[in-house]
Amino acid sequence: MRKPILIANWKMNGSLHSNQALLVRMLAKLRPFRKTIDMAICPPFPYLFQVRDLLGYTGIALGAQNASRATSGAHTGEVSATMLHEMGCRYVLVGHSERRALYHESDDDVAARFQQVLSAGLIPVMCVGETLEEREQGWTMKVVQRQLQMVIDQCGMSGLAGSIVAYEPVWAIGTGRTATPEQVADTHRAIRQFLENCETGAGQSVRIVYGGSVKAANAAALFSSPEVDGGLIGGASLQADEFSNIGAALA
Ligand code: PGA
Repeated sequence: MRKPILIANWKMNGSLHSNQALLVRMLAKLRPFRKTIDMAICPPFPYLFQVRDLLGYTGIALGAQNASRATSGAHTGEVSATMLHEMGCRYVLVGHSERRALYHESDDDVAARFQQVLSAGLIPVMCVGETLEEREQGWTMKVVQRQLQMVIDQCGMSGLAGSIVAYEPVWAIGTGRTATPEQVADTHRAIRQFLENCETGAGQSVRIVYGGSVKAANAAALFSSPEVDGGLIGGASLQADEFSNIGAALA
């Protein structure tokens, strides 16, 4: 019922030259999965145009890694959701843990960005997740619920229901340390239950993807639970073979 989705988060990596080489290779390898899974590539802002052109009519969507909480005007260095829409984006990551930790985006900030993305007619990929300390304290769902609740308070449950939720435990991002398939399935189930309690049907309809050191070798196990609707892939999305093998595990 929920179509799986695989999202590449290139973070601050790439160059005109390397993007071209990577995408040409990757698109050929992803071809067999195009019908069975949705896919999106989120390059850094300056490469949106290039990646949009290379994706062409493959059916693979373009995404961005963030959007401003402001609509337009005197916000030097910011990029608005409307601009991203104009560039051909379909998805925008919101509240990635690197944004929260390194650039001090608060829950309130994230919710404001989420609203901008929705208003521009784009699909937010709402990133949530706990730190290692929070997990060890048993606070995983408390943290994730707080992050989601702020979006519900500001954008309504219908707003959140129109998004994709990415569960990314902070301690598993870029660390090589992956959550176990059981931890992932349990947390996704709890997020679904929370969404369902907020609005009947939302728990079943919203796609929840996992992110955090997913690679070809662990993808099948991580995606084995029906609770997991796909992946948000950082490091491994910079390698054509790795990324397409992750796609194969999902297809
Ligand atoms: P990673 O990053 O796959 O490199 O752990 C995932 C993410 O940050 O979205």
